[in-house]
Amino acid sequence: MIHSLSRRAFLKTATVAAIATTLPLTLQATTRAQTPATATRNATFYRFKLGTFQLITFSDGILNAPAAAFAGNVTPEQLQAVLRQGYQSEMLTPDCNILYVDTGSNKVLIDSGSGILNGETVGKLVSNLALAGLSPADIDTLIITHAHGDHIGGLTDASGKLVFPNARYHISNTEWSFWTAPTVNLPNFKGGEELKQGFVTVAKQQLGAVKDRVTRFEMNQEIIPGITAIATPGHTPGHVALKITSGDASIIHVADVVHTHTINLWNPSWQPIFDADPEQAAATRQSFLTQIAGDRALMFAYHFPFPGIGHLIPRAAGGFDWEPVQWQFEV
Ligand SMILES: [Zn+2]
Repeated sequence: MIHSLSRRAFLKTATVAAIATTLPLTLQATTRAQTPATATRNATFYRFKLGTFQLITFSDGILNAPAAAFAGNVTPEQLQAVLRQGYQSEMLTPDCNILYVDTGSNKVLIDSGSGILNGETVGKLVSNLALAGLSPADIDTLIITHAHGDHIGGLTDASGKLVFPNARYHISNTEWSFWTAPTVNLPNFKGGEELKQGFVTVAKQQLGAVKDRVTRFEMNQEIIPGITAIATPGHTPGHVALKITSGDASIIHVADVVHTHTINLWNPSWQPIFDADPEQAAATRQSFLTQIAGDRALMFAYHFPFPGIGHLIPRAAGGFDWEPVQWQFEV
């Protein structure tokens, strides 16, 4: 994913207009400053334990996107049936859940949220860190699952400065090489030229901002002790999921292997238009989710309802149901 999109813009163009990413950053920053702050917000972080690791889900806020953007290869009638069953409307508000891991040796953030990209409903990470008593300067390790704006927009502030001044930035070698190449080819992308160019522009800009502090990792490599990269290509070529392990406990961060807990989880073959290669992404989604369900593994999903932690239950008709975990109240 993904961008915040008005339904009108979506219907008008029949593909998704990349409104957010194609605006100059300075213009968006100005717009933000002129908008009054929301009067009241819920505290949006959730602490939990994994072995000896202390974890926190931080909300970066919610995106706005038409449900049809997650189901590019099915009929409106098929989509309507799922939305009705899932108590959802034609406009979805996907969460952006950012996982913080304190391993005892490292203070890790996985992705950075949208920052000043994608409008007013996102970009809440830094203020939510403060609510939990953390400063961006505390973060020593920032792992990038993939180079889309809702995951790397928050690497920089409105002036282009790094938000996390003391972090090393870890990204897969495949993802880095893909987006920083002189020519970025996305021959199978179905989201339209404007969205494609928006993705490329944001990736080049944000990866460029951290280029002097980047460590590239290979697939299946342990990035830092306790966190291992898992190749999950399709959404982007170098997209990774992460396995986080402490003692006997583990959780699989699936990033954008699956975007919705209804449309794409019930129907892994339904294709979001945000995917670099929709066929490959669908194959990855089916096989990786099948493995997670088979292992009865604990799963973390970036775009599922906050705090994004749960298990998969295979459905009789294919696909999976999402079973959120109960909150830990004593951590
Ligand atoms: Zn995303």
